[in-house]
Amino acid sequence: MNIIFALIVTTIRPKLMKIIPLRTFIYTILSILLIMPSSSFSKEIPPSPYRIRTIVIDAGHGGHDGATRGQFSKEKDVALKVALLLGKSIEDKMKDVKVIYTRTTDVFIPLYERIGIANRAKADLFISIHCNSMPIRRVQSGYKKNSKGQKIPIYKSVQSTSTRGVETFVSGFGRLDEQDVVMRENASILLEKDYKDNYEGYDPKDPESIIMLSLMKNAFRDQSIKLATFIQDSYIESGRVDRGVKEQSLAVLAKAGMPAVLTEIGFISNPAEEEYMNSDHGQREIVAGLLKSIQTYKRQVELE
Ligand SMILES: [Zn+2]
Repeated sequence: MNIIFALIVTTIRPKLMKIIPLRTFIYTILSILLIMPSSSFSKEIPPSPYRIRTIVIDAGHGGHDGATRGQFSKEKDVALKVALLLGKSIEDKMKDVKVIYTRTTDVFIPLYERIGIANRAKADLFISIHCNSMPIRRVQSGYKKNSKGQKIPIYKSVQSTSTRGVETFVSGFGRLDEQDVVMRENASILLEKDYKDNYEGYDPKDPESIIMLSLMKNAFRDQSIKLATFIQDSYIESGRVDRGVKEQSLAVLAKAGMPAVLTEIGFISNPAEEEYMNSDHGQREIVAGLLKSIQTYKRQVELE
């Protein structure tokens, strides 16, 4: 404060000297300084209470839960590769952030345990990485005659291979006509022992019980949507097809004690996207986009 006072006196005073007497000038300046709150002079900004210190990266599925598959690769393997690359890239570029993986090898981890790892570590972000896939449907392809000469229908399995794009989910209650992803991603629960005890009676085969999951407390909705939006923006920048940010009742996110997202990095059922997600170029581009969105998110929430 003394330095500021001296500066004011030496810089302003000479110009006003002729008009205002010295004593009046000093009294005026002193009164102004006393009225102004002392914080106006403080150069220290109080530390923000919210910092991104720990990020949990979750490679979807694993072990006997291979999940969806394309022509030559499985979702669990693509998700693991991208998750490990993302973790390494965060460690390289964000030195103040600790990375925790839910898995680093091809092992099965129950969904509740994945979020349990994040909750126990008091993580500040949870990012789950998955591949999308179009459902396989059975459609009638014609008729054949049985031994009695009766016409019986023939069915074949069909799957759309043209659907493509990226979407990112946050925990919430979404549209009932968009439950494909929910049913598929939550189906991992069926591979867990005692799933009914661990999910409070939730049954992934029953669409109505999805409502129950969505009622689980989600205090981090806005922050999760913010990160999910940055992630989608980064995909769009790389020219991907944007399927948007969606709220759905995903078991892996339901009990998150921190902002949490599940990102579907592409359709493994689309040959071009399967190729992209398995290529060095594709993986590098996806990871660079995810890293950039995490950095943008971190900067923004730490400033608030
Ligand atoms: Zn998945």
